[in-house]
Amino acid sequence: MENKEVRVRFAPSPTGPLHIGGVRTALYNYLFARHYGGKMILRIEDTDQSRFVPGAEEYINEALKWCGIDLDESSGKGGSYAPYKQSERKEIYRKYAEQLIEAGYAYYAFDTPEELEEMRNRMKAQGVSTPQYDAKVRNSMNNSINLSPDQLQKKLDSGIPNVIRILMPDNEEIHINDIIREDVYVNSSQLDDKVLFKSDGMPTYHLANVVDDHLMEITHVIRGEEWLPSAPLHVLLYKYLGWEKDIPQFAHLPLLLKPDGNGKLSKRDGDRLGFPVFPLNWTDPQSGEVSSGYREAGYFPESFINILAFLGWNPGTTQEIFSIDELIKEFSLERVGKSGSKFDPEKAKWYNHQYLVSKDIKEITSLFQEFLKTKDISYNDDYVEKVCELVRERANFIKDLWDQAYYFFQAPTSYDEKLVRKKWKEHTSGLISELLVEFEGTESFKAEDLHTIVEQFIQKKEIGMGQVMIALRLTLVGSGMGPDLFAVMDLLGKEEVMNRINTGLRNILNIGQGLKS
Ligand code: GLU
Repeated sequence: MENKEVRVRFAPSPTGPLHIGGVRTALYNYLFARHYGGKMILRIEDTDQSRFVPGAEEYINEALKWCGIDLDESSGKGGSYAPYKQSERKEIYRKYAEQLIEAGYAYYAFDTPEELEEMRNRMKAQGVSTPQYDAKVRNSMNNSINLSPDQLQKKLDSGIPNVIRILMPDNEEIHINDIIREDVYVNSSQLDDKVLFKSDGMPTYHLANVVDDHLMEITHVIRGEEWLPSAPLHVLLYKYLGWEKDIPQFAHLPLLLKPDGNGKLSKRDGDRLGFPVFPLNWTDPQSGEVSSGYREAGYFPESFINILAFLGWNPGTTQEIFSIDELIKEFSLERVGKSGSKFDPEKAKWYNHQYLVSKDIKEITSLFQEFLKTKDISYNDDYVEKVCELVRERANFIKDLWDQAYYFFQAPTSYDEKLVRKKWKEHTSGLISELLVEFEGTESFKAEDLHTIVEQFIQKKEIGMGQVMIALRLTLVGSGMGPDLFAVMDLLGKEEVMNRINTGLRNILNIGQGLKS
């Protein structure tokens, strides 16, 4: 690594909610910056006013904050390269476009939409499947290449709308040095004369991106693979603007693929298969449609980050759970693969489960208490903590704890009829009533003592454990599921257990009679 301070940027366009692929790009930039003790910059690329979506910029900021991706320089934070929003840097770009014209690397074009359409139709008729504004057509178009200096001046003075296009050189091998893809070569003859500056006075993405990366002294451009086709143009712009020796190192990240690997992961895949593709919920400002986010789906930010880190990068070991500090320490672009990464929604849940079971029980308790509050349920922390400890192995999300543990907070109001029918025999009520007397008589209601009582009871009765345990569970929980029943009883406490068994015996008997009649 050279001695220069590492400076990287995440440069989203505020055209809608940030897709998880975008968050991954931000994360890799962040990990890279922190790994090298460099700077992480957020630059908002909003030069395309027609695609501006209200709320998108706020969404980006909130998403990064939730993920713990903190920024060194941004619109909100400021920094010595401010402003960090391209619409506020508007004045900067024009002179670079003009500099390119003066040096003969760019030209004015006055073509109307109709003229462009006509050109495309003409080329198609000649058998060109994807016509573009390039060496083949530029000499027959309405641009400054085909005008005398006088004619040009007149046109400019008349105020006819114009754009500035790059003059793509003929047959030049452009070399892109990409850390992930290594050396990429593209021949300039395949490229078109892209617009650099628009008639609305704004630069296009390409010009603004290159100018800002240069002025902000960006050392590494880490971005999605969809930008690789633009990289040769960017390299040329660096060269033409006289910044060749400062071209940043590129790293184009592999695509995120659908779970089956067939194509790019889209919002539709998420809707179809039931998983979010956005970090946070997003409400479309126009339609009001809500798209779900990982935060609201119950993911911890730590597991979300961990999931994203592994979509393209691997540590080269079998370790899968990484804290953000561990990621910072281990991350390197050399360990990012070239091929697309399949998104696996089941694996995502698995990650959250790992965090749910390993996080400090106090944190889990407090999150579950928040959940209980929404149900108007109030129990002390000590009780809720024990409940969480008992059931968290069976949950992936905080909300799952409720499905696994609701009976700790409310006595059963119904009993699994199928199970009653199958397991509640003629003599069961009698056995449970006798057991009830044993429970009544015990001083200690600790799990191990309860276990001993039942153990001795079944020996005395010469019956199997199963004959009483399922019945007992039915009276206490209402179903056949749940963790160790003695631990459940211990936690519910003697009084509650006695009540539930009594109520259960009455109700289940009724079910039985109902079933028979
Ligand atoms: N504004 C581009 C985007 O929306 C940034 C691409 C880049 O990082 O160069 O993704």
